[in-house]
This record gives sequence, structure tokens and C-alpha cells, in this order.
Amino acid sequence: MHRFVYADNSATTKISKNVLDAMLPYFTEGYGNPSSLYALGQQARAAIDEARHKVAVALGAKKDNEIYFTSGGSEADNWAIKGAAHEMAKKGKKHIVSTKFEHHAVLHTLDALKKEGFEITLLDVHEDGLVRIDELKAAVREDTALVTVMFANNEIGTIQPIAEIGEFCREKGILFHTDAVQAVGNVEINVEDMKIDLLSLSAHKIHGPKGVGALYCRNGIRIETLINGGAQERSKRAGTENTAGIVGLGVAITDAVSDINARCEKLKALRDRFIDGALKIERSRLNGDREKRLAGSANLCFEGIEGESLLLWLDHSGICASSGSACTSGSLDPSHVLLSIGLPHEIAHGSLRVSFSDENTTEDVDHILNVLPLIIDKLRAMSPLWERIKKEEKGE
Ligand SMILES: *Cc1c(COP(=O)(O)O)cnc(C)c1O
Repeated sequence: MHRFVYADNSATTKISKNVLDAMLPYFTEGYGNPSSLYALGQQARAAIDEARHKVAVALGAKKDNEIYFTSGGSEADNWAIKGAAHEMAKKGKKHIVSTKFEHHAVLHTLDALKKEGFEITLLDVHEDGLVRIDELKAAVREDTALVTVMFANNEIGTIQPIAEIGEFCREKGILFHTDAVQAVGNVEINVEDMKIDLLSLSAHKIHGPKGVGALYCRNGIRIETLINGGAQERSKRAGTENTAGIVGLGVAITDAVSDINARCEKLKALRDRFIDGALKIERSRLNGDREKRLAGSANLCFEGIEGESLLLWLDHSGICASSGSACTSGSLDPSHVLLSIGLPHEIAHGSLRVSFSDENTTEDVDHILNVLPLIIDKLRAMSPLWERIKKEEKGE
């Protein structure tokens, strides 16, 4: 019974040995400041240049200088959206189109821009967890500066029609940003083919370190400076570089992209085994399209229970999972993502997200599937909501 299963890889991942080994020298003998002219500094500079090249290659970017290192996905999202919006406002374009189920790093950034006088249109997401390109086309206006749509959703794992959106935005001369934090390393991405102008990513979701990420910004696109100071990151984001973190990101993204197909196949098998098993539970449902989803991610609702209680009991059995996003847990509001796909409040409360990595095994999935129905039975036995559901079933 004392098995430990980590199934919350959409929240964060364990750093890989390969990544850690590559980073360690930059905490010890490789401590030079990358801006220093002596060899110790220039070695760090070379390591950063190499990492930048690796990220560019992984995304199919034309030039290394289209990659800017940041402190993570949230910073990249903030910078891309505010940075592009402020530049476009100079041309009188102050309208932004996005979706209702973006990560809070995007939604709260849009809230901040709204207070500055930008107009925001948030597209509905359908029950299958996908946005519709026709609705996006209908939402853009003459003064639309930017479209920002996430590549893959962090709670329900659904993958959006990014290439189609890119094609349309390019045609219309509208900037296109995508939060690809969940997609990088899990979906094949090519910023050129997909006509993406700005893309955010984060290392800690792909077995890299926390506190480092990157923004891809296509050459020729102007974004406002984020941090004033030294000349780092082409004078747009000042501050002595996080050399070890950046090196870790370079290795993590290269590893993630290099075995993407084999890994996704393995993850899909785990995910589908989990979905098939969990759907045997009475009054359960899978949230989001069955196929157009991340290989390792599944989100289900079980009627008549509270997601939070379920998580605590799973933890007792050594299982780490989530009720949605790590950022909303702690609040008692149901997930904005589940509400956006039309789930009623009481059902959205009973959600469970499991997200696997290639360290998970079939035995892990079976352990969850053994424990889960017992916990759900126990919780339902105490639930007034479940009692009501059962009464209604009987027509009482
Ligand atoms: C995790 C995540 C972020 C935030 O990335 P950090 O590196 O933790 O700041 C942004 N968007 C999505 C979709 C995420 O999953």
C-alpha cells in the first residue's frame, strides 16, 4: 500500500539527471559573470549561447536571437502580452482576443491591460475543450492588436488549432502569441510553419529547473523592454543571467523534443489505461476531447464529491494528483477552466487531474485505479449531494 505515485506533472516535473548534471558545474567552478571579458565569464557566455541555440532549434526558430530567457512561463506570458500590446497601442490598436480558459498568467495580465484601457474579448471554449476558429475570426476587428490562445490547456490538456489560428492572424496582420508551457516537448511545434509570433515556455514543466523559461519573439516584432538595466537579453531584460538555469532549460528542451514520439506513445498508453479504468466509476466523465489532448494528461469529474477531499485521501495513499491547476487550489472556487467548458459548479467541484511523465509505470496507474473507487465510495457515502443524486435517480 505504501507506493508513492507522482501523477501531477502538469504542475511541475522532477528535474532529470541529465539536466542536473549539465547545470551543476555552473554553480561551482563555472560561476563567472557572462558579461565579463575574461575566460571564466566567456565560458558562461558560451554556455548561454549554446542553450539559446538549443531552444531555437527545438522550436524551429530561424535565429537564436529570437529567444529571450525569462524567469519562467508567467514572466514570458506577461512580457509577450503587455510588451506587444503597449507597442501596438502606439499604432492605435488596443483590442486583444483571447479565451476564457487561459492560464492565470495570461488572464490576469489581460485584466491589468483592461484597466489601462485595452479592450479584451475572451472567446468561449466548447464542451470538448476546444476554441472554434470561426468564432475567433468573427471576434477580430480593425483595431485588434493581438490574439493570444494557449497551445495546450494545463487543466484539461486539450490542444488548440494553433496552426490555423497562426495562418489567419498572419493573413490579417495581427500578432499571435501562444502560451505553450504545457505543449513544449509534448506536441511537435514549429514556430515558422505554425506562424507563431510570440511563444512562452517554462523549464520546470519539462524536467528542467524551476525559475527559468523563455519567450520566443519573431525577428521584426517590437516588444517593450521588460527590465531596464544592463545589456543582457539584447537590452530588453536586464540582470545577470541565471546561467545554470538557462543551461538546464537548454538540455531539458533538447531531451524533451528528441524523444517526443516514443515518449508520447508510452504516455498515451498510461493515460488511456487510466481514463478507461476511471470511467468505470459511476457518474464520472472525462473533461475535454478524448483525442485532441496531451499524451499524459486526463481530467475527470466524479459527481457528488469534492475534489479537495479526494486529493487529501489520494495523498494518504501516496498519490500526488490535482483538482485542476496548482494556482487555483487553495481557493474554494471551482476551476475557471471547467466552468468555461460549461460544467455546472457542483460537478466542476468534483474534478481530478492526473498527468503522467515517462517515469510513471503501468503499476502506478493500476495503483491509482485500485485506490480511487474506494475513496470515491467513501466520500459519496458522506455526501448530501450524492444522496440527492441517488434520490433523483430513483425518481423520489
Ligand atoms: C505552469 C504554467 C505557466 C506558468 O509557468 P511558470 O514557469 O510556473 O511561471 C503558464 N502557463 C501554463 C499553461 C502553465 O502550465
